[in-house]
Amino acid sequence: VNLPKLSLLPLVGLSAFTFAVAPGKSPTFHPMVSHDSKSCFMSAMSDAGKNKFQPALAKLEALLMVDPVTVGIDRTSACGSSNQYDKDVARGLGIWHSALNDSPFVLAKDSSARPTVLIKFVKSIDNQGGDLQGMIEAEHEFKWNGSQHTSKLVGTMYVVYRTGNRNLSHDEVSEVVAHELGHLLGLTDADTTTGLMGPFVAGAPRLAPSGSELDAVQQFRQQVRDEIDHIEDQL
Ligand SMILES: [Zn+2]
Repeated sequence: VNLPKLSLLPLVGLSAFTFAVAPGKSPTFHPMVSHDSKSCFMSAMSDAGKNKFQPALAKLEALLMVDPVTVGIDRTSACGSSNQYDKDVARGLGIWHSALNDSPFVLAKDSSARPTVLIKFVKSIDNQGGDLQGMIEAEHEFKWNGSQHTSKLVGTMYVVYRTGNRNLSHDEVSEVVAHELGHLLGLTDADTTTGLMGPFVAGAPRLAPSGSELDAVQQFRQQVRDEIDHIEDQL
C-alpha cells in the first residue's frame, strides 16, 4: 500500500512554486503530511502573498475538502457478488468518521452518478514491480477569476482484492480503503505497522489511525483553516 499518486492540477494557470513567503515564515508541517499536500499548501500561500486570493482559496478548500467527498464502488469491477464489499467500504469511511469530527467522506447513494472517489476492485496493480494492495489517483481542478473560485475533485481508488492465494478479508478491505482515504486527507506512507499508513500486512488488519496520524491530519486541517481565515480577513 504505497506509491500514492495525488496530483493537484489547476485547470487555469499553475502558479510556479516560487514563494513570496519569507524563508523565516515558512510553515512547519507534521512529518506525516505528504509532499503533495505540503506543495499545494505552499502554492496557496505563495498565491496569497501575491494577492492572488481566489486561486489560493481554491487550493486550500481543495486540501480541506470543504464539499462532501462521495465514495462509491464501481459495480463493473467488483469480483463475484457486486455487493460483497459494501459494508467493508462503509467501515473504511467509518474509521475516519470515528477519528475526526469533520470527515469529508460520505457513501455515494445514487449509483447512476459518478462518485467523487470511485473504488475499483482489481486483481493486481501493475505499478513499478511493487506488491501493492491499493492506490489512489486524485486530481483537483481549480478554476478562478478575480472574484470567484471553484475546485473539483475526481478520484479513483484501486483496491487489490487478492493477497497471496486468497481474497482479502472484510477487515483488510476496510483497512485498505481507510489507508487510501488517509492519502486524500494529506497523509504520506509510513514505515511502521501501527496505524493506517504503514505497509499492508496480510492477516493483521489495522482499523484505526495511530495517534501520530490523527495529530497530523488534525494539525494540517487546522493549518489550512487558519490560512483560509487569514486570507478571508484580507478580502
Ligand atoms: Zn499508501
